[in-house]
Amino acid sequence: MAISSFHPPQRTLMGPGPSDVSARVLAALARPTLGHLDPAFIGMMDELKRLLQYAFQTENAMTFAVSAPGSAGMECCFVNLLEPGDKVIVCQNGVFGGRMKENIERCGGIPVLVEDPWGRAVDPDKVEAAFGANPDAKFLAFVHAETSTGACSDAQTLCAIAKRYGALTIVDAVTSLGGSPLKVDEWGIDAIYSGSQKCLSAPPGLSPVSFSDAAAEVIRQRKTKVQSWFLDLSLVMGYWAGEGKRAYHHTAPVNSLYALHESLVMLQEEGLEASWQRHCDLHQQLKQGLAELGIEFIVPEGDRLPQLNAVTIPAGVDDAAVRAALLADYNLEIGAGLGALAGKVWRIGLMGHAANQRNVDYCVAALREVLSR
Ligand SMILES: *Cc1c(COP(=O)(O)O)cnc(C)c1O
Repeated sequence: MAISSFHPPQRTLMGPGPSDVSARVLAALARPTLGHLDPAFIGMMDELKRLLQYAFQTENAMTFAVSAPGSAGMECCFVNLLEPGDKVIVCQNGVFGGRMKENIERCGGIPVLVEDPWGRAVDPDKVEAAFGANPDAKFLAFVHAETSTGACSDAQTLCAIAKRYGALTIVDAVTSLGGSPLKVDEWGIDAIYSGSQKCLSAPPGLSPVSFSDAAAEVIRQRKTKVQSWFLDLSLVMGYWAGEGKRAYHHTAPVNSLYALHESLVMLQEEGLEASWQRHCDLHQQLKQGLAELGIEFIVPEGDRLPQLNAVTIPAGVDDAAVRAALLADYNLEIGAGLGALAGKVWRIGLMGHAANQRNVDYCVAALREVLSR
């Protein structure tokens, strides 16, 4: 039997990512592939770095996109910064903080766990207490926007605490970049990673990262080799930073980088602050619509992420059946609960290009109809 071309259905993606990719970004993806050392391609990479510096609000020279998804950006931060025996205060208030802890352990680091309930922000007082008890901690690691619960933590305050104890910060901004206020330099974030497929609305598979001068110095002073060859920044930067004469490290995902570039050009056109505001405004609209259906948020108002709405499933409603009906009858994807919240919540994403008025109205109307069956 001959297999023919794959034509995906046209969905509306309102889950925890990937988010809808605009026609303009998809068109960029379809442009001619260049050699990854072609001067025209290298010019595009330099622009991409500048666009990422804008999105992250940083002057960090070491700002680029890891050629792999957000999870690889996470791993890139930990494997480059940590050496065996390093103590790291790591905050867990959902799934992704747990993955940070796992990374620390695999690097031979010593995690000091600060736990908060799922659906709540990281408590700065607990972090302060953890530093008080562990003044030798070299790093503080936390998730800015916990996609598994919809909670936003106060990155600025957490970074200020770490600075007072002389520790560097490692921040997960996979879901926050482009969707929520985030200021890498002003807040003193030392290592940060994100993903292309959440509020940037580029196809999945790339992880924007940025490292401060202090983080770069820690990497330069390493006594041990980074255990990952692919993610070793001393090698990767020969490709991304080699002024004029770039060395082959791996073949960059050329067309995916065009798409990320285009999505960042769109972010620049809209303006970062305007994008943050749009996510907030649409979140308010969604909140109103869901309230009419008796659906409530699990995160207290002040800690809520606008781009990831974790909400209760009405009593007596079959979680999986509703999501399946939304997909089958409305081509609409919303997210299921993850980890401890599996079966307990829906996660409705309003990320990037998908954060628009039509989607909010469509989602509320579709939920109303499916719930009335
Ligand atoms: C999605 C996500 C990741 C992982 O990104 P992938 O691109 O799926 O590897 C990490 N952290 C957070 C907070 C996320 O939302």
